[in-house]
Amino acid sequence: MLRTNLLLAAAVLPLAVCAYTVESPGGVTVVTTSVTSDGRPVYSVTHKGKTVVENAPLGLSTDIGDFTKGLSETGGESKDLRYSYSQDKVKRSFIDVSARRATVSYGGPDGRRMDVEWHVADNDVAFRYHLPKQQGKASAVVSAEATGFSFPEGTKVYMTHQSDPMVGWKRTKPSYEEYYIVDAPLGTPSEFGRGFTFPALFRTPDGIWTLLTETDVDGYYCASHLSDYDGKAYTIAYPMEEENNGNGKSAPGIAIPGKTPWRTLSIGDTPAPVVETTIMYDLVEPRYRASRGARPGKGTWSWIVWQDGSINYDDQVKYIDLAHEMGYDNVLIDNYWDTNIGEERMKELIGYAHSKGVKPILWFSSSGTWNDIEQGPVNRMDRPIVRKKTMRWLRDNGIDAIKVDFFGGDKQETIRLYEDILSDAADYGIDVIFHGCTMPRGWERMYPNFVGAEAVLASENMIFMQEFCDKEALHATLHPFIRNAGGIMEYGGTFLNKRMNKGNDGGNVRRTTDAFQLAVAVLFQNPVQNFALTPDNLSGGPAEAIAFMKEVPTTWDDTRYIDGVPGEYAVVARRHGSDWYVAGVSNLDKPVKLDLDLSELSAAGAVATLISDGGTDEVTRTNLTLKNPAKTQVTLRPASGFVIKTHSK
Ligand code: CA
Repeated sequence: MLRTNLLLAAAVLPLAVCAYTVESPGGVTVVTTSVTSDGRPVYSVTHKGKTVVENAPLGLSTDIGDFTKGLSETGGESKDLRYSYSQDKVKRSFIDVSARRATVSYGGPDGRRMDVEWHVADNDVAFRYHLPKQQGKASAVVSAEATGFSFPEGTKVYMTHQSDPMVGWKRTKPSYEEYYIVDAPLGTPSEFGRGFTFPALFRTPDGIWTLLTETDVDGYYCASHLSDYDGKAYTIAYPMEEENNGNGKSAPGIAIPGKTPWRTLSIGDTPAPVVETTIMYDLVEPRYRASRGARPGKGTWSWIVWQDGSINYDDQVKYIDLAHEMGYDNVLIDNYWDTNIGEERMKELIGYAHSKGVKPILWFSSSGTWNDIEQGPVNRMDRPIVRKKTMRWLRDNGIDAIKVDFFGGDKQETIRLYEDILSDAADYGIDVIFHGCTMPRGWERMYPNFVGAEAVLASENMIFMQEFCDKEALHATLHPFIRNAGGIMEYGGTFLNKRMNKGNDGGNVRRTTDAFQLAVAVLFQNPVQNFALTPDNLSGGPAEAIAFMKEVPTTWDDTRYIDGVPGEYAVVARRHGSDWYVAGVSNLDKPVKLDLDLSELSAAGAVATLISDGGTDEVTRTNLTLKNPAKTQVTLRPASGFVIKTHSK
């Protein structure tokens, strides 16, 4: 319930100061807003009586007024909110939301007015700004935000760096493909002096975990990130001016009355609320009705191991046959299909795929005028006339999914492009995966035909760099708590090749076991998964691994944190129908014996299968009876993994 406390305006304070308190339905999470003596709005968050955020700044700087200072709280109201919805592309299929929703209003003596809307659930806090109609203005440019996040001294951070703009392959960055700082002190500087990207994870000295991200970002705003620590807080930062080759502005323009995206904090005294949160979907609504249901599924992908040379008719037939053999839904045909195969021959190839029950996904560059990409097709997705013509060609030739790569960053102009591509594709019944892109921000629910986003140092980096193979286990133990906790993650993983080249006899060396590779097929969540299997794996690969990759689902009804510490090891359970898949991976340097509590998943005596390895790198399948599901013992070896499959209670 909302409690309104009037803190007496002491003689030393020039403004009347109010404080509003919003308590979550279970009373465990409490938000308090107030205004400093010079009229700056601030907020604090506690969870189970422990400080999470303390006196962090709120406010917007705009061209119609400064909403960061000289304000007082002029009112507040709140209500209980309960609703539920279904989702078929994320970590849970049926979601119940219970929260306290509050609006706190601010005003200045000159007529400035701003509202902050709060959503306070037991394990999630979110807020956004509203600018009401004022001074006859119907539009505004938000030049900066005061919005900050100030964690207690001694908080440890798990964050990934924002890239410099216009660097990397063909000047395509930033694209959320940087390393992480792990368990690092508050204030650790970012690698490039550009701050950090969402999501970001924090652990206070009291042991409270918080995942910070944003949602409901559409063409009415930019995507934001976090500044470097300013000594008190990480603050909201806007895209760099140089992004998108300088095209478009960094500062977002909004219509008045208007609102900003929601910034969200998922909070718990274990990492479970972070791994399991659905707050980024709870706060958004579908933007349009889908012309058909999105098609999740598994697929093959020649480019990941066989690379550019494989984009030819004969090699694509081999990967279509592999998809058919595996019982998969699709094959991803990557860059250069337009010139290496050509549109006419593609029609023949698409026909062959359909005859095998396999649906091709075709690759496109998003550009355009913002990078140096030459891989075709280019200049087909950046403007509406040519884009719609392309969508019509795709539909008429039996293509119902595309992958669009190499976007220009986070500016409002680029967010509009994401939205325009999704909207046009939806009109032609086409699903869209983004690659070389930003983090999705609620898009899984907002755009019914959105089925994937990379925004991670994905599997391709194992082909490019030995260092990434060396860090594969580290990253796999971070993603369930950070990147993949905040949105679906199109990773393109599960290699059964030991060497990262076509002949499996050269290139970089995979450091992780086959059982690890199977575990990430469950651990990394995206409704469409293109796995890094090769045709040679069918005969040369381990039979148990192939059998598992044939059956593993890509859609989930539920997700639970079971065990783990980010950067050390991770165990996550996902349910598909009545089957639970409990997947674990390790970045520890010694074997560890885990006592997993599966008592909420399975009844005593449940039959289970353990897919693992005996330290010999040979995938084994063992039948288990879960006599005491609260203490299910598994040995997790370095750079290895396991999957326990069992029936739900
Ligand atoms: Ca990439």
